[in-house]
Amino acid sequence: MRLDRNIKQKVHDPYDDRRKYPEGTYCPECGALYQGGRWKWPEKKEVTGQPCLCCACRRIRDRFSAGEVYLSGRYLHVHRSEILNLVGNIIRQEEVRSPLKRVIDFTEDAREVCVRLTDNHLARHIGEAVYRAYSGELEVKYSEEEKFVRLYWCRDA
Ligand SMILES: [Zn+2]
Repeated sequence: MRLDRNIKQKVHDPYDDRRKYPEGTYCPECGALYQGGRWKWPEKKEVTGQPCLCCACRRIRDRFSAGEVYLSGRYLHVHRSEILNLVGNIIRQEEVRSPLKRVIDFTEDAREVCVRLTDNHLARHIGEAVYRAYSGELEVKYSEEEKFVRLYWCRDA
C-alpha cells in the first residue's frame, strides 16, 4: 500500500505541472524529456527512461486549458493579421523554450478570437503583450487558486 502525502489537497489535479517524474521520463507524443525536475525539449533524440504523457500533451488530448485569451473589438478586425502575428510569434518563442507552453486550440468567429493554452503564464504573456502593443482594454480573471486564467482584450476605436 502506498501512502498518499497529498491527501490534504482538496482536488487531485491530473494536470499538475509540479508533479515529479523519474529522471529520463519522456513524452511519447511530443518527445519532451523530464530532466533536472522539469520537462524540456531533449538535445539528443536518444531515450532511456519510461514513456509518460507530459502535462501539456495531456491537456491537449483532453482539451483542458490552463489559460485562455479572448480578443475582440473593431480594432481587431481592422488589424487582425498584425495582431495575430504578434500572438503567433509569442507562442512560437515560448514553445521553443518549454514543451509545457503550447496551444490547445484556436477559434475565431465574426465577433472574437479565442486562443486556449496549456499554460496560464503563456496566456498572461499573450494578453499583456497585445495590450502593451495596441493598448485598448485588458481584463484578467483568475480562478480561485490562480491556476487558471482568462484574459479578455478589447479595443474598439
Ligand atoms: Zn508531450
